[in-house]
Amino acid sequence: MTTSTSISPKEALAQLKERMQQLSDIGAAQALLGWDMETMMPPKAAEARGRQLSTLAAFSHELHTANEVGLWIDQAQSFSELSATDKALLRVVKKDYERDKKLSTDLVARLSKTTAEAHLVWIDARKNNSFKTFSPVLSKIIDLNKEVAEAYGYESSPYDALMDIYEPDLTVAQLDPLFSKLKTELVEILNKLGSFESKTRPEFLSRKFDKQKQLDFGLQVLEAMGFDLEAGRQDLAPHPFCSGTAINDVRLTTRVDEHDLVSALFSSMHEGGHGLYEQGIDIKLDGTPLGGGTSLGIHESQSRLWENLIGRSKAFWTYFYPKLQQHFAPTLDDISLDEFYKGVNFVKPSLIRVESDELTYNLHILLRYEIEKDLIEGKLKVDEIPERWNESMQSLLGIKPDSDANGCLQDIHWSHGSFGYFPTYTLGNIYSAQFYNAAQKAMPELENNIQNGQLLGLRNWLKENIHHHGKCLTPGELVQQVCGETMNADYLMNYFREKYLRL
Ligand code: ZN
Repeated sequence: MTTSTSISPKEALAQLKERMQQLSDIGAAQALLGWDMETMMPPKAAEARGRQLSTLAAFSHELHTANEVGLWIDQAQSFSELSATDKALLRVVKKDYERDKKLSTDLVARLSKTTAEAHLVWIDARKNNSFKTFSPVLSKIIDLNKEVAEAYGYESSPYDALMDIYEPDLTVAQLDPLFSKLKTELVEILNKLGSFESKTRPEFLSRKFDKQKQLDFGLQVLEAMGFDLEAGRQDLAPHPFCSGTAINDVRLTTRVDEHDLVSALFSSMHEGGHGLYEQGIDIKLDGTPLGGGTSLGIHESQSRLWENLIGRSKAFWTYFYPKLQQHFAPTLDDISLDEFYKGVNFVKPSLIRVESDELTYNLHILLRYEIEKDLIEGKLKVDEIPERWNESMQSLLGIKPDSDANGCLQDIHWSHGSFGYFPTYTLGNIYSAQFYNAAQKAMPELENNIQNGQLLGLRNWLKENIHHHGKCLTPGELVQQVCGETMNADYLMNYFREKYLRL
C-alpha cells in the first residue's frame, strides 16, 4: 500500500470515495443476507448465516476504521474544489469514523458478547414473567451504554450521546420540554374521550379475509403510492421491515393475518413509506454514505405519514373503501364508509406498544424515554424499573400491566443494547404531521386529489423536498428547509385534537 501522506487532497477524496463505495457494497451484501434470513432462509442455515454476517461485519469494521481513512478525511478537507455534496459526505464520514474510533475493541467485544447473551435471557425472562432473571444482564448493558456515552462524549446528559447515534444532534434539553407538553396534551385528549372500559374493537375488522387477497390489495395501494415494483418488492416476514441493497433495490416486508384486515395493509403502507424514501433518494448518491435516510426520526416520519395521516384518513378511504368492499365482497357489504373509518381509528389504551393505536402509541414511547434517560443518568436503578413502569402506565394510560411480561419486559430493544432509539418513534410522528402540514400548504388541492385516489402528487412532493436529499442535509437542516421552522409538535397535537375529539 502506498503511504497516504504523499497524495494530494484531490486524490485523498477519490480514495475515500472508493473505500466508501466498497463499504456500501459490503453493506448491501449484509442487507441481502439479513433480508433473506427473515424471509426465505431454511432454519438449518442459521449457524452458517450468523458466521457469514459476522465475517462481513468484521471486514467492514476493519476497512472503515483503518488509519488511512482518517488521513484521507484530513487531507480531503483541504481540497479547494469541494462541492456541497463532497462537504456533506466528509461531514458524515468524519462523524462515523471518529465515533467508531472512540470505542475500544475491548468495549465493542464486551457489548456484543453481553447483548448476544442478553437476547436469550430476555426471551426466557419474558416467557417466565421474571424480571429478576433479566435484571443482572440489563444492569451490565446499562453500564456498557454509560461507557459508550462517556467514550463518545456529551455536553450535559450522557443520554444525548446515545440518542445522537440514531438522531444526529438531538438532545435531552431539546426533547424534555417538547415531550412533556406532548404528554400533558395527550393525557388531556384521552380524558376527554371518556371511559374506555366498555369500548371494544369493531367486530368487522376481525372477519375472515383471504390472505392472498389482502396481499394483492396491499400491492395495489403500494402502486398507487408510487412504490416502484421494478425497483423493489414485497415479501412476508414475521416482523415487518424495509431494507434493500440500493436505491433501485428496496425490499419491503409485511405480515398477514386472516382475521386482521388492517394489520397487513397498514404494515404495507408503513414499510412502503420507508421504501418510498429509499427509492426517492437522488440516484447520484447511490452507493455513497449519503445514499440513505438522514435519521431514524425522519425515516419514521415517512412511514407514519403514509400509514396514519393518509392510511387512516377519511379522504383516502373515500376512494379506497368501495374498492376494498368490492375486493372482499360480500364480507364488508353491511359496513358503511363512516363505520369503517371509525373502525380503523379505534382508540383504547392497551398494555402492548406495538398493538396500540396512533394516539396512545406516543404515551408508550414517552414512558420509555423517561425511564431510559433516568437509567443512563443514574437516577433510576434497574430493580426499580417494574414499579416505575407500572406507575407510569397507570398515570399516563390509566391501566396497570397484569405482568412484567406485558409490562417492562415486552420490548426487544434493551436486550439488543439499544438505548436512545425509542424517542425516534415519536419524533417520526411529530415530523410526519409537520411535513404533512407543509405539503398541504404547498398543494391546496391535496386532500381533493387523495379523495380521488391520486396519491402521486404527494409522493412527488415528498421526493422532491425530503427524499431527494438523502443525508446531504442534517435532520435539523431538512426540517428548517421544508417547514421554515424547527421541530414543532403543535401540528401533531392539532391533528389529534381535530380528528379524535370529532370522532
Ligand atoms: Zn418504521
